[in-house]
Amino acid sequence: MFKKLVDTVFFLNKTGQDHYGTLRRNIILIMLLITIVPLATMVIVNYFQYRSHLRNQIITPLYAMAEKTRHSFELFLDQRVAIVRFISTTYDFKHLSDEQNIKRILVSIKKEWSGFVDIGLINTQGQLISYAGPYSLLGKNYSEQISFQETQIKGQYISNVFLGFRKYPHIVIAVQHLTEDGQVWMLRVTIDTDFFDNLIASMGLPRETDAFLISKDGVLQTNSIYYGNTLEQFPIQVPIVNFRSNSFIGTDNQNRDILLVSSPFSIAGYTLVIVQPQSVALKSWYALKTEMIVIFFISFAIIIFAIWKMTQILIDRIKSSDQKRENILTELQHAQKLSSIGRLSAGVAHEINNPLAIINEKTGLMSDLIELSTDFKHKEKFIELTAAILNSVERCRKITHRLLGFSKRINIKIEPININLIINEVLDFLGKDILYKRIDIKLLLSESIILIQSDQGLIQQILVNLLSNAFAAVNDLGEVEIETQNMKDGGIRLKISDNGHGIPDNVIKNIFDPFFTTKKEKGTGLGLSITYGIVKKLGGQISVSSEVGKGTVFTIELPDKPNELEVMNEQSEYKDSAD
Ligand code: ADP
Repeated sequence: MFKKLVDTVFFLNKTGQDHYGTLRRNIILIMLLITIVPLATMVIVNYFQYRSHLRNQIITPLYAMAEKTRHSFELFLDQRVAIVRFISTTYDFKHLSDEQNIKRILVSIKKEWSGFVDIGLINTQGQLISYAGPYSLLGKNYSEQISFQETQIKGQYISNVFLGFRKYPHIVIAVQHLTEDGQVWMLRVTIDTDFFDNLIASMGLPRETDAFLISKDGVLQTNSIYYGNTLEQFPIQVPIVNFRSNSFIGTDNQNRDILLVSSPFSIAGYTLVIVQPQSVALKSWYALKTEMIVIFFISFAIIIFAIWKMTQILIDRIKSSDQKRENILTELQHAQKLSSIGRLSAGVAHEINNPLAIINEKTGLMSDLIELSTDFKHKEKFIELTAAILNSVERCRKITHRLLGFSKRINIKIEPININLIINEVLDFLGKDILYKRIDIKLLLSESIILIQSDQGLIQQILVNLLSNAFAAVNDLGEVEIETQNMKDGGIRLKISDNGHGIPDNVIKNIFDPFFTTKKEKGTGLGLSITYGIVKKLGGQISVSSEVGKGTVFTIELPDKPNELEVMNEQSEYKDSAD
């Protein structure tokens, strides 16, 4: 009953629910904070560390490859410049002006060095004086060309790639020579760029990787796999910083995510560019990133689940221990209430019993005297009145006896009892009520019921109280069921169920209180509080569950033997009161 009572109180007590809700929320928040925050911080820090580490690891080999290839290009160009410079210092203007001589020179350098297409001697005015090669350029004036002007300023010049008359990509190398007598002239050679393509092909690029040369203004100097052929515009702006290799991670004009490494030349206006799709370049990074994200979310899910489960267990434990505490407190208060009312009742009953005995005796005497007298006028009337007084005295006796019973100052006699037998005796005793109300009694008595050490009289009293209430609750033809069974860990269980009017929630809280009744003049409100006191004295438990309109079940659990201390206390109390 107290469980039910406390449950009801809990149900009604909204603030109690809110308290557990707030507690649950706070525990979850704190646990989330102390687990997820370090986990998330660790993942974020690791993410950035791994990213920069892996990017370095991925970009470094591309840098090395770009630098190495650029060196090969520069070596090639350096050698060509050195050869032209060697010719200009070995032969004088006059010697080179002779077409036969210059042709011989071209033949011999072509034999030794690849790439040379033609060679020409240009005088101070920019006029081509002599020429050896496949074109007829003799007499052409170069004074207006950038190549001529830049050679005059810098002493040497390497041009961007251009398509010659043969529509074949070339570059021009020009070297200026200054004689001791102040004469200035220059040697100009054309070089085909087959070597460029060979060098790029020999880089051993990974799959889907593109490498090519671009000029300072972003014009392709060699063919690119993805961005067009020589002399087309490269669509991405390549940042050039201090002739150092650079990398760039972004999106190209075809919306591909790319990694770009650029390495600018120091001796010419070219930049070597290597482009790799990010899917290839950062493959290992993407795999690691996915793993990290998956691990993070799995850990997150596990943590959330563990926190939720732990909080659930914790809150359940707190709730049940709160409930237990509340039950104990309520039981204690109830027991105290019963005990103090019990003492008071015992005192009152004791005090009233003596005057009652006197009234009884004197009224008896009065009645005898009147009966014996022969001349008394109102004899009949007086005998009727004294009988009414004696009746009332008898009723008062019954009440004082009940009050004494309530105070439990009655002798307890512990002996082995069979509850089934007591039930049958009590039913015999209540036979009239059963017949009168035509109540259907259903007996579900366990045949193997154990004998328990208890007090037969007190158990009879329990049964009479509970059955009387059940009979009062049901209509005519109502049903009352009595069930007994052995409990798993010793003791017996007794259930008395009826299909009566049931007990509303606001009433059930009070039914065990002394003098609480809903029966107006007919009830004393002592039956259940006495029953409760007896059950407790016998070391048992009593509980109730009820549904309005459906019925009520009282369950009593009694141990196989009561707590000896309780019984001894009870008997000593009895002795005290007898004294
Ligand atoms: P009384 O029977 O004198 O009223 P009790 O202590 O025996 O005193 O019962 C207290 C109250 O509990 C009753 O007035 C009644 O409202 C309620 N009650 C007890 N048993 C039942 C039952 N089986 N069905 C419905 N109400 C019950």
